[in-house]
Amino acid sequence: MRLILLGPPGAGKGTQAVVLSNNFKIPHISTGDILREAVKKGSKLGLKAKLYMDKGELVPDEVVVAIVVNRLKEEDTKNGFILDGFPRTEVQARKLDESLYKSGINIDMVVYFETSDEVSIARLSGRRVCKECGANYHVKNMPPKKDGFCDKCGGALYQRDDDKEATIKNRLAIYKSQTASLVDYYKRKNLLQTLSGDLDVDEVFAELQTIFSKKKFS
Ligand code: AMP
Repeated sequence: MRLILLGPPGAGKGTQAVVLSNNFKIPHISTGDILREAVKKGSKLGLKAKLYMDKGELVPDEVVVAIVVNRLKEEDTKNGFILDGFPRTEVQARKLDESLYKSGINIDMVVYFETSDEVSIARLSGRRVCKECGANYHVKNMPPKKDGFCDKCGGALYQRDDDKEATIKNRLAIYKSQTASLVDYYKRKNLLQTLSGDLDVDEVFAELQTIFSKKKFS
C-alpha cells in the first residue's frame, strides 16, 4: 500500500501513520521527522532546514524532494510506504509523480484529514515530543503515564519551537496558501479519500479501516 496522508499541521496524520506503519509493516516517512533529525545532528541539511522550520515556513522544494526521492529508493519501501507531511506544494507533488512514474509505481490512495483550525491549534499547542525517540504526546488528549517523560523510552518530553502560538498561526496560513490546493490535485487524479481530522484518535482509526476495507491494494 502506497499512501499519502494530507492535511494541516495538527490533523493527527503522524499519530495515525505510526499505527498504520506497525499494522501494515511499511515505513512511515515523515519529512518533518527527517528534517528534525538532521537539525539534531547539526548536519549541513539540518542547519539550512532550521532557518525555515523555526519560522514555520516550508523548506525549499528541491531539498525535500531530494530527501523523499532518495528515501523511496530504500529496500524497505518495496511493499509500500506512508508519506506524512509530503508533498506540501504542487511542485513537490509533481516531482513525486515523475519519480514514481520512472520507477513504474503509483500512489494507491491519498487520505485527506479535513480539520478545523480550532482543533489543529489545540492539538499543536498541547503537543509534547520525546527528545530521544520522537514519540508524540498531548498534555490533555494523550498524556504520558509519568508527567514529562516518554512511556516508550523514558526520554524527556519537550515542546517543539514551531508548536508555540505565533509559529502555529504561520504554519496554518502557509498550509492554506501552499498545501491546501493539493486536495484538488489528488481529487482530479481520483485518489482522494476524506475523513474528519477533528475526530478522536480511535474514531479516525476506525474511519481509516472503513476506507481501506473498500479498496484493494497492490
Ligand atoms: P511537520 O513535522 O510535518 O509539521 O514539519 C515541520 C516543519 O518541517 C515544517 O513546518 C517545514 O518547515 C518542514 N517541512 C516538513 N515537511 C516539509 C515539506 N514537505 N516541504 C517543506 N517543508 C517541510
